[in-house]
Amino acid sequence: MDCIFCKIIAGEIPSKKAYEDEYMLAFHDINPQAPVHILVIPKAHIPSVDGVNADNSTVVAKIFETIPKIAKEAGLTNGYRVITNCGDDACQTVKHLHFHIMGGKKLPENMG
Ligand code: 5GP
Ligand code: ZN
Repeated sequence: MDCIFCKIIAGEIPSKKAYEDEYMLAFHDINPQAPVHILVIPKAHIPSVDGVNADNSTVVAKIFETIPKIAKEAGLTNGYRVITNCGDDACQTVKHLHFHIMGGKKLPENMG
């Protein structure tokens, strides 16, 4: 499958890992929009939030159980933002479900 994030999971494209287990991989965004900008992705290919269903939602729960740990280990002691873009209007560019963890400064209130 021609999916850049599946290639990162397979190790075909290098990434700076922040966390990994059987369900997920977290790595630093190549084009950070904040001092800390980590992407958390399921190892299973799910295209977006639109592709979450009763058969695959366990990994989403696991990701949200783990995000606080990833954030803490990245030094985000004063809060952080978790974002997922779904579809064209949200400007989703990579069609593999991912959650942005952003922080390390006071982020803008206005999200557009
Ligand atoms: P989206 O716009 O789909 O919500 O976010 C995709 C994110 O993936 C962007 O922030 C972009 O910088 C990041 N990204 C795209 N390709 C790569 C890559 O090859 N490596 C890493 N580390 N991040 C990537
Ligand atoms: Zn994928």
